[in-house]
Amino acid sequence: MDISKFNQFVRDIYGTDKFIPLHEPRFLGNEKKYVLDTIESTFVSSVGAFVTDFEEKIQAFTGSKRAVATVNGTAALHVALLMAGVQREDIVITQALTFVATCNALSYIGAEPLFIDVSLKTLGLCPKAFDEYLEEHAFIDDLGVCRHKNSNKRISAVVPMHTFGHPVELDELLEVSEKWHLILVEDAAESLGSYYKNQHTGTLSLVSALSFNGNKVITTGGGGMVLCQEEALGAKTKHITTTAKIPHPYEFYHDENGFNYRMPNLNAALGCAQMENLTGFLEKKRHLARQYQEFFKDADTTFVVEPENCRSNYWLNAIICADKTHRDNVLEGTNKGQVMTRPIWTLMTKLPMYENALQDHLGNSKWLEERVVNIPSSVPLDA
Ligand SMILES: *Cc1c(COP(=O)(O)O)cnc(C)c1O
Repeated sequence: MDISKFNQFVRDIYGTDKFIPLHEPRFLGNEKKYVLDTIESTFVSSVGAFVTDFEEKIQAFTGSKRAVATVNGTAALHVALLMAGVQREDIVITQALTFVATCNALSYIGAEPLFIDVSLKTLGLCPKAFDEYLEEHAFIDDLGVCRHKNSNKRISAVVPMHTFGHPVELDELLEVSEKWHLILVEDAAESLGSYYKNQHTGTLSLVSALSFNGNKVITTGGGGMVLCQEEALGAKTKHITTTAKIPHPYEFYHDENGFNYRMPNLNAALGCAQMENLTGFLEKKRHLARQYQEFFKDADTTFVVEPENCRSNYWLNAIICADKTHRDNVLEGTNKGQVMTRPIWTLMTKLPMYENALQDHLGNSKWLEERVVNIPSSVPLDA
């Protein structure tokens, strides 16, 4: 890979000599108008029509039974795990190669992560490694509960993450989950606009989470969404994210311990405007990915493409370098040239909170950790 040629290639795409960030938001439509509307109407906070409107737009776009907006993606995932029945002391299976929010959410409940390797095809949870670990370390008790052999702890759920928007192998993962009586919860934070066999990611599990953080495909400043595939579960999710208040014109009555996780109307206004451009953003992101794919065709660097039978949003484009030294050279040369690139996350098992967590060999995770680099992925502007 010729680094100066790459830097120039990226500069030509974005048409600038200035610093090129990894992923910046685009506000090209009604963003100012809708946000101003919340200020002029005074409805900036927990009451206002944009929240419902935004929920309905996401619901329709993803084909969900119900979508519930939250303050951020971590909160959405926290609630999704609660709705899936995850409890204190449970073991929850996930990837070591993920953003820390996945683990934060299950830690809030008092559950403990078990890290399983990822697949090289998807960069997400590997169904084979998942089943192999359970075959060796788990059993199903007389009540049909999956338990860890050493600790006898309940293993209740599995949380695969669609890395950089590339869908995991959901059919296979769902099959293994069923075999071991586990509930699957998709961390779809990065995959708005990504499809697995024509179904929107996040809708193949009963409940899942999206994020609208500033660096995601679309943003609400900070925000998230719980996707529910059952009406009753959707109503329960709405209730618990809005302080579990029983609706009444003036009385305060709360029937359980709830959360103040509702998305403010101010943020939802931004989201409604962003949704009007989502399809256009996705087309441009896919076009950008094709340009990168062409650029890296013959290079010693592999461009990560969408898995088979999937349509990826290409949230963050990624390359796989030959080895760690090569990766370090790429990071150095691009960032020095004011073209922002970044290594993939440090494995969760290297963070102090999860150093002693349960884990399998993590072979592919370790291999990818040393080689993957994210390259500029903002929606290119029209020339
Ligand atoms: C962005 C993200 C989240 C949610 O993050 P928030 O900043 O809380 O919205 C969760 N999981 C993954 C993998 C993410 O990338």
